[in-house]
Amino acid sequence: MQKTPDFTEITPTAAIENGRHGARAKCLQRLIRLDMPVPLSVALSFQAVRTLAAGGSIDTTGLLRVFGEHPLVSVRPSAETADWGGPGTILNIGMSARMAARLGETIGAPAAEQLYRRFVQAYSVEVARLDGEQFPADQSLSAALRTYEAEMDEPFPEDPAVQLAEVLRSMARAWGGTTARLLRQGRGAPADAGLGLVVQRMALGLGQGECGSGVIQFIDPATGARQITGRYKSQAQGREALDNGEDALFLTRDPRGPSLEERCPPAFEELLEHGRRARVGLREEMQIEFTVEDGPLRILDAVRVPRSARAAVRVAVDLADDGIIPREEALMRVEPSAIAQLLHPQVDPSAPKEVVARGIAASPGAATGRIVFSAKAAQIETTKGEACVLVRHETSPEDVRGMHVAKAVLTERGGVTSHAAVIARGLGVPCVVGASTIRIRSRDKTLVTPAGQVFGEGDIITVDGSTGEVLSGAVDMLVPALDDGFQTFMAWAEEAGDIGVRANADTPADAATARRFHAQGIGLCRTEHMFFEDDQLTVMREMIFADERGDRQAALDRLLPMQRDDFRRLFEIMAGRPVCIRLFDPPLHEFLPKSRDGVRQLAEAMGLPASRITERVEALSEFNPMLGMRGVRLGITVPEIYEMQARAIFEAAVEAGHGGAVVEPEIMIPLVSARREVELVKSRIDATAAAVRNATGANLSYRVGVMVETPRAALRSGEIADHTDFLSFGTNDLTQMTYGLSRDDAGRFMGTYVEQGVYPVDPFHTLDVEGVGELLLLAAERARGTRKDLVLSICGEHGGNAESIAFCRKAGFSYVSCSPYRVPVARLAAAQLAISDRPNREKHTISQWIAQMLRLAPPSHSG
Ligand code: PEP
Ligand code: MG
Repeated sequence: MQKTPDFTEITPTAAIENGRHGARAKCLQRLIRLDMPVPLSVALSFQAVRTLAAGGSIDTTGLLRVFGEHPLVSVRPSAETADWGGPGTILNIGMSARMAARLGETIGAPAAEQLYRRFVQAYSVEVARLDGEQFPADQSLSAALRTYEAEMDEPFPEDPAVQLAEVLRSMARAWGGTTARLLRQGRGAPADAGLGLVVQRMALGLGQGECGSGVIQFIDPATGARQITGRYKSQAQGREALDNGEDALFLTRDPRGPSLEERCPPAFEELLEHGRRARVGLREEMQIEFTVEDGPLRILDAVRVPRSARAAVRVAVDLADDGIIPREEALMRVEPSAIAQLLHPQVDPSAPKEVVARGIAASPGAATGRIVFSAKAAQIETTKGEACVLVRHETSPEDVRGMHVAKAVLTERGGVTSHAAVIARGLGVPCVVGASTIRIRSRDKTLVTPAGQVFGEGDIITVDGSTGEVLSGAVDMLVPALDDGFQTFMAWAEEAGDIGVRANADTPADAATARRFHAQGIGLCRTEHMFFEDDQLTVMREMIFADERGDRQAALDRLLPMQRDDFRRLFEIMAGRPVCIRLFDPPLHEFLPKSRDGVRQLAEAMGLPASRITERVEALSEFNPMLGMRGVRLGITVPEIYEMQARAIFEAAVEAGHGGAVVEPEIMIPLVSARREVELVKSRIDATAAAVRNATGANLSYRVGVMVETPRAALRSGEIADHTDFLSFGTNDLTQMTYGLSRDDAGRFMGTYVEQGVYPVDPFHTLDVEGVGELLLLAAERARGTRKDLVLSICGEHGGNAESIAFCRKAGFSYVSCSPYRVPVARLAAAQLAISDRPNREKHTISQWIAQMLRLAPPSHSG
């Protein structure tokens, strides 16, 4: 292998590569190719920096010779990816008493002395590692030199080659430090990531005439809207204009104060021109660092503008709309997880915050409110117009009404597919679950944090469901905005994707959200969630309590019109798109009251003594409800429930189809483990359909499918497929049963398990491809062996996760179904997967575009 030279002058044709010299060096070369006035720059290779870090040396005298006599330079870090960071830039290397005297003749003695002082201070702190507090900004040069000499027991180095060698060595070593390493690895850098360095001739920013430095960007980093932002400061260097805003100038005319545009119109005009060229040539929105040196402009550096998720989408769309990048590249430029941030309010990353506890980030977004410890209190607070956060050990169906009105939910127990997590995601309510270090004392209504801080009912906290953090008090938020940019971006994603994306939507409100996010249908309607409405819950409880068949039927007869109404609204909202309704799934005891208050209320409603209610609740309680009488087992044992639901679905379909709309409901049977279960339930559904057909004369068509969520259903899918039109994998239960791990209890130890590498990730969040995935593939193969055209899909929470979508796509599933708020995330992930699979995508399209765009770049001022 050819040895990389230690340093290379950055010229338009020099062999500068991201992978050998870093992104900054490469970016500077691009700016130079675009004819920008970049000061002479030299790139040090990763290899050279490694040599320095290991105690070796490079020819700094030779390096400085490139800059001619009496060089004055800066050194900037250049990691392979700009996001990986690096040590801070050091300016003014080469300053000494002699140099100050020489420079004083051209820029004036005070400016020259200031440059020297700045260098002594930076060198002392960054290179000699002396305490920064000993070098305050208002210190004189002689005081800085005295402090250095006293602390180091030697005079300040005057030889530029020695200064540079020490600066380079200290930066090389800083890159190997633990904090820097952890930080960049957290941003995706590999363990052996290299650092390059750029040595650049100083453009002073200090001196006679109009001298100064500034930073300009052409978008608002919060929204992505085209707008010039940044600052300029006279007699300043580097990014000082941003750090010390007091006497900094605006860039464009501004009623709040003077601007560069007014003070120095030619430099401003030139800057705009460079900005335009950088955008087209670098195919990005760049933040440009510049210096004005008694008139002429210098471009020192450019980095990608750091931006919010909303801005990232807007910028990608604008670049594509302006023909600078192809659409497919625009789609590849935004992380799917950024889309999730965009849909919900987020804690402002620049706001101060006090984290009082942590749990599992279960439903994205953040919200602030007063603590309440019960669903009832949540409802009361909400009627008073107060925002509240519902805090529970864990949630159950009883809490759903409270979850509807609460701004956020926090639970002590549970994992990413626990009741609280699933419901909150569906509602789009920020949620943190499994915050196992907090203690909730229901009796005195307090929440105690791990540090012993006590919060009572009514105290204000903020729950950040994107990070899993619980914060004390209110925190500044960034509000979501689904602007035109977002809509366009999602429309492009829809066009590019090649696997369907449906929503898990239980209520008309969910369905409306699903439509807003362009879901292609409903992939799972968990019908039991409809029973949580006040009126339905009471009737439901009466049905459960009924001893006699006739009483049960009477309650079901009252539920029928309510369900029918809900289904009709779903069909209408989805306007002809598929709607897959799952028959009742949870164990009945989930609907029974748990609190003393709840028992009393039900006793009143039913005219029974409270003791009777308690007795019955105890009789219906199950030891392991997830494996007990739920799903199809209930459907077989108490067939009236499914019959009522099937009738409600068919009658709703007839009603919704009156105007000529096509409504073809899909009915799904949950928790199947045997073929016979499907035969029995299907024959009853068919009989109900026949009855509705007879009664209404309508021409009903529908499809019946099975949820594959027990390992046995997966193994026996070949024979189950014989009786169904589709199979949908319920990977929440399937994961639970494959691991033998309760989804509600997993949160207690999941963190430890992942930390210790027992599981690489939480399998309830990212599909376990090796285990559960094998069951999925096997089931798909066996089912297709029976029926080649069988529609396969996934509707567990994994449906919204990019890695899991990749798996489903490879396995040839027709669609994934996830919470409405995750539909856009899933849609983008699906589009990116499809684009990545296109043959020769990178090589062909993008290189063509680059060539074309560079040809279109307008000529520079100087050229
Ligand atoms: C599942 O088990 O994956 C599923 C979608 O159903 P639920 O979460 O309602 O049990
Ligand atoms: Mg399930």
